[in-house]
Amino acid sequence: MTTTESRMPSATIEMEQVTPNVFTNTKLRGCNPSFVVTSDGVVVIDTPQLPTRAVAMREAAEKHGPIRYLINTENHVDHIFGNYWFKGAGEIVNHKALWDIFMDPKAALDPFAYALEAIPTEDPDAAPLIPDRDEYYADLPRGTVVFTGDLLKLKVGDHTIDCHWTPGHTPGQLAVHVPEERVVFTGDTIFSGVQTWLMTSDIDQWLWALEVIRALDVDRVVPGHGPVTDLAYVDTQRAVLLEWTSAVAAAVAAGWTREETVERVNFADRYPVDVGQEYMMGYIQKHNAGSLYDKFTATPKPRALPA
Ligand SMILES: [Zn+2]
Repeated sequence: MTTTESRMPSATIEMEQVTPNVFTNTKLRGCNPSFVVTSDGVVVIDTPQLPTRAVAMREAAEKHGPIRYLINTENHVDHIFGNYWFKGAGEIVNHKALWDIFMDPKAALDPFAYALEAIPTEDPDAAPLIPDRDEYYADLPRGTVVFTGDLLKLKVGDHTIDCHWTPGHTPGQLAVHVPEERVVFTGDTIFSGVQTWLMTSDIDQWLWALEVIRALDVDRVVPGHGPVTDLAYVDTQRAVLLEWTSAVAAAVAAGWTREETVERVNFADRYPVDVGQEYMMGYIQKHNAGSLYDKFTATPKPRALPA
């Protein structure tokens, strides 16, 4: 464990050392922001949602060398809001399917407003760091290396950084595999020991994405949320997705209405919500069940098979 002090406004961030060159933080509100130290600078994977922690993590990362790349694993605000405080820090890697909906103002949860909701309770010192909405959107660093297809391979110093396209949780989802460290950063393809958000998801693709991750030769799995885990957790995540889908499929088969389904299908007792979002438990249950109900009762249309 290392603790890093930042300047104005002061905040600390404790990074957990996962391997000799891999650091993450699984205890913040937001995603698990991480970085990999190479012989030629640092690769950041997702940014802290809380502004003072974004500033502090950037400082912690830059102590090891210049930031070469910032990779976003998905478009949800808890993974990209902090990009603002990484201006000028290397190339930003996004899959094209992520880039297309980056800070999408049409999202069900307005990303800017949702990020600001956390400030008064979780990061009150951040107020002077936050620009107004227009300035934020105008200056927000977004993809400078935007790729299509299944894999982008980067070589940074002595490290290989393989960005696997793993759509499912979101369309532009990435899993970042670092073979030299025997680590994969899965983004929200894995929610470790916390509630799974699946309302913007394609579950068939997500199940396939889990198999892409399972096939990697790694010891440590850094999830999008919750504690660092290992490949055995792929089975647990698959079970969570299949339990939700079969419960809602059974509800549809039993002729329940959408209202009845949302009221009765509920996995709130299974896991807590990740840090700082406990108040979203009802929202998650309602929208997980409701979105699956809508998909299972939609007008039939041929579905594309996973690649
Ligand atoms: Zn997330």
